[in-house]
Amino acid sequence: MQISNDLYFRDRRRHDLALRMIRHEARTCTIRSCTGLTDDRIRRLYKTFSQHRSGVAVRRRRGKSPRQAQYFTRNVEIQFEASCLGSVLTAFDLVHRQRQTGEDHSLAYGQRFCDAYETHRQLMHDARISFEHAWFLLLALSRGSTLNAARCRHCQSRYLRDRMSTLRRGCPFCELKANEAQCSTTSRIRRPVRIRPSLHSLRT
Ligand SMILES: [Zn+2]
Repeated sequence: MQISNDLYFRDRRRHDLALRMIRHEARTCTIRSCTGLTDDRIRRLYKTFSQHRSGVAVRRRRGKSPRQAQYFTRNVEIQFEASCLGSVLTAFDLVHRQRQTGEDHSLAYGQRFCDAYETHRQLMHDARISFEHAWFLLLALSRGSTLNAARCRHCQSRYLRDRMSTLRRGCPFCELKANEAQCSTTSRIRRPVRIRPSLHSLRT
């Protein structure tokens, strides 16, 4: 009886996590790596989810998963968001060179990643990084890719930069502040400078 209860609750956790990831438009392979569910079962879950949530548009992502680290430094807004997201992933203790293996660890890791991603979306009022790009960012930071954290010599913030990028872009926090200051001085209608709340709160 104990064994069947354990199996039931584990299956329930896998199922709940898969639905949570489907709501974020995660790819099948990402859901599989966290839940251990088969592709066929994930497909059926997608189908059931879209039938019962007809008012909610959920796209099923197809094609290749994100794999370009340059995506995170392609403009100052994305670099700013990626730097904040990187801080959140670190705060949730998700960035590891070696991930613990095993079904329970994968489930717990996937749940914690969803917690981190949802927290990031709450903190960032106009978040644009998708769930799949956030997952890719986590993999890139964990594997030690060309993305690394740098410290700004002007404001001391830590931000993400791509060592291989040919773009000479500095700290996104300073750049955004400079852009906003420039906008406020050139605008005919003077408006108060609006700084995103997360600009300061997420500095590490
Ligand atoms: Zn700076």
